[in-house]
Amino acid sequence: MDLYEHQARQLFAEHGIVVPNAEVTDSAKEAREIARRLGGRAVVKAQVKTGGRGKAGGVKLAADPAAAELTARQMLGMRIKGHMVGKVMLAQPVDIDREFYVSYVLDRAAGRFLAIASAEGGMEIEEVAAARPEAVARIPVDPAEGVTSAKATEIADAAGLPPQTVDVLVRLWQVLVREDALLVEVNPLVRTARGDIVALDGKVTLDDNARFRQARWGADDDEDQDPLEAAAAARGLTYVRLDGEVGVIGNGAGLVMSTLDAVAGCGARPADFLDIGGGASAQVMADGLTVILSDPAVKSVLVNVFGGITACDAVAEGIVAAVDRIRLTKPLVVRLDGNSAARGRAILAERAHPLVEQVTTMDGAARRAADLATTA
Ligand code: ADP
Ligand code: MG
Repeated sequence: MDLYEHQARQLFAEHGIVVPNAEVTDSAKEAREIARRLGGRAVVKAQVKTGGRGKAGGVKLAADPAAAELTARQMLGMRIKGHMVGKVMLAQPVDIDREFYVSYVLDRAAGRFLAIASAEGGMEIEEVAAARPEAVARIPVDPAEGVTSAKATEIADAAGLPPQTVDVLVRLWQVLVREDALLVEVNPLVRTARGDIVALDGKVTLDDNARFRQARWGADDDEDQDPLEAAAAARGLTYVRLDGEVGVIGNGAGLVMSTLDAVAGCGARPADFLDIGGGASAQVMADGLTVILSDPAVKSVLVNVFGGITACDAVAEGIVAAVDRIRLTKPLVVRLDGNSAARGRAILAERAHPLVEQVTTMDGAARRAADLATTA
C-alpha cells in the first residue's frame, strides 16, 4: 500500500527527519485557517498517490490565507493523472538552496535493498537517470547490515550530497525497517538557505504482508481504488478487476491464469482474476461470487476449481450458499474436478438452480461461459 504524502511526512517526523510544518484538510475554508496558523504563506499540495504533482498544477504557493483558500478550492476535486484530489496539505514554504533525491527500494532480483541518491533532486528521478545516468548513484544495501553512518557516508559521497544528509540517510533507513516499507523516497530532500536539511516530499510504500503490524493505517483509504477491488480486499480475496464480461473464479493463481487464457481463446474477455486459494471454505467461494456478480459488466461467470486441498464439495456448498443469498440473474458455468468432485457435482445437481450449469472439462466450460457472455 502506498501512503499519502502527509502520512509519509508523519512517519519521517516520528523518526526525527525534519519536515516543514503542515496540516491536511478537505475544506477550502479550513485551508485559509491553516495558512493563517502557518504564518500566512503556504504551499498548497494535492494529496494524491502519484508523483509529478508540481507539473500537473497540484503544488502551488499561496501568498496569503485568502489565496490559500482559493487555491485549495481549485485543487479539491480536480484530477491529477486520473486521481481525484480529496484532500490538500498546506505546508510552510521553505527557502530552498539545493534539492536532492534519496530513496531506498527493495531490489527483489538481487535480494537486497538499493539506495538511490542524486544531487539533482526535484525532478522525476527517471528523467535524471535517462538524461544523466552518472548523476544518479545506486548503492546496494545489505538488509542485515542496514544503513549505518559509514554506509550513509558512502551513499552521500557517491551521489555528491553534503555531509549533513548522512543523518537523514540513516533515519530514512530506520523508517523503512521499522515501518515495514518496501520503498521510501524523499524528492526533494532540500538544503535550506540556512543550511538545514528538510524533507519536502515523501513517498512510502508499505509491505502489504506486514499490514497486521501496521494497523494504524487502517484499510486503504484510497478514494481512487476500484470499489469492487476494495470490497474484495475487505473480504481477504485476491481479486483484480479486468475489463471483460466473463467473471472468472478459481483456486490457485496458475489455474486462474490459464482459465483467463481459455476464456480469451474462446473470443471472450475475462472480467476479473479471482483466486480463492488453497483450502478455501464455502464462505470464501460465496464471498468471491458475490464480488464478481456485483460487477455490472459481468454477463456470465466461470467457476473453475481443481480440488486439491480445497475440496469440491465445499466449493459446491459455497456456490449454493451464494446463489441462495444473492438473487442470481446471470448464468454460472461450473467445472469441478479433483478432490471430492463427484460429491461437489452432486450437490450442485441436487440444488438444480436454473442458471447454474456444469461442464466437466475446463475448455468446454470456458467455451460455454464465453458463448453465454457474447450472446447475452
Ligand atoms: P511532486 O513531486 O509531486 O511534484 P513535490 O512535493 O516534490 O511534488 O513538490 C514539487 C516542488 O515544489 C518541489 O520540488 C519543491 O521545489 C517545491 N516545494 C514543495 N514543497 C515545498 C515547500 N514546503 N516549500 C517550498 N517549496 C516546496
Ligand atoms: Mg516530489
